[in-house]
Amino acid sequence: MPNFNFFDNEQPTPIQEIRYQKRHNLPISFSVKRDDLVDKLISGNKWRKLKHNILQFNPNQYVGIATFGGAYSNHIAALAAAGAKAKINTLGFIRTHHIDLSNPTIQFARSKGMKLVAISRQDYAQRRTAEFQLNLQKQYPNLLWIPEGGTNNLAFKGLAELATQINQQGSFDIISCAIGTGGTIRGLMQALPDKQFVGVAAVKDDSILSKLAKEFGQRLTIVTNYLFGGYGKTNDNLNQFCLDFYHQTKVPIEPIYTGKLMYAWTHEKSLIDIASTNSVLIIHTGGLQGLKGLSYRHPSLLPLLKVLTSESDV
Ligand SMILES: *Cc1c(COP(=O)(O)O)cnc(C)c1O
Repeated sequence: MPNFNFFDNEQPTPIQEIRYQKRHNLPISFSVKRDDLVDKLISGNKWRKLKHNILQFNPNQYVGIATFGGAYSNHIAALAAAGAKAKINTLGFIRTHHIDLSNPTIQFARSKGMKLVAISRQDYAQRRTAEFQLNLQKQYPNLLWIPEGGTNNLAFKGLAELATQINQQGSFDIISCAIGTGGTIRGLMQALPDKQFVGVAAVKDDSILSKLAKEFGQRLTIVTNYLFGGYGKTNDNLNQFCLDFYHQTKVPIEPIYTGKLMYAWTHEKSLIDIASTNSVLIIHTGGLQGLKGLSYRHPSLLPLLKVLTSESDV
């Protein structure tokens, strides 16, 4: 039988005031919702998005839960961890030509018992089509399927819980988070209809961004200047910033999502001005597991990984 107790033991995550100072500049202050602390392994927004998806798992109906993701995906890692805790079999379809057993995210998912299947980039591009899904369902029957990134209506239910927590913890003029599939910001904006939002793009997907812009109009400002070359890309400057930000604030961040978000708030003049005159809440959506995979490709991240590992934040 599955075990869902860990979802009941969830505690509200803290909101922390932080101050960051660039050399020769005034300090910048804002609040950070430490949703990375919701769980060590089922991190941040992936907890919010997976929770109600997993709670609907009925062992009389399904033999396991399946999903899609990239080889370094936080969503894959989170589902693997949640499946192990809930005692539910998990299956991850990974966008790759072969499963790289030295990739830290793959190693972690396997250690949590997730079965991994490589699917080619061409096949992966078809993953949202009905034909492709029917085929997979025939090949792998009786699975509960969760979309890539976990974004669906049940994800919005978990994000509404995050929104309720935020309302109980303080009053903020502006809320900000990173944008990947856009599910997190959409869920929060739906649940907090009287708040202004700033979304910092971590993925250069114009269809996602223009859809959000159209849907939310004036309530949403989208920042796209801090992609650092695109999804999953980083450079020494961003890596160094993440380390410096951690040294100053003790808030651990990584370059794929939260590092780009914090970089924007500490470097973009218009955002610095906003933060000096408004109460801004920045959502830390977690994702620190991604640092291990990224360090494997970018050795300039090793100092950050080392300090976070020694202080057991990763
Ligand atoms: C997945 C992820 C995001 C992106 O969330 P979306 O709902 O896809 O926009 C942001 N931050 C972190 C740390 C993530 O792991």
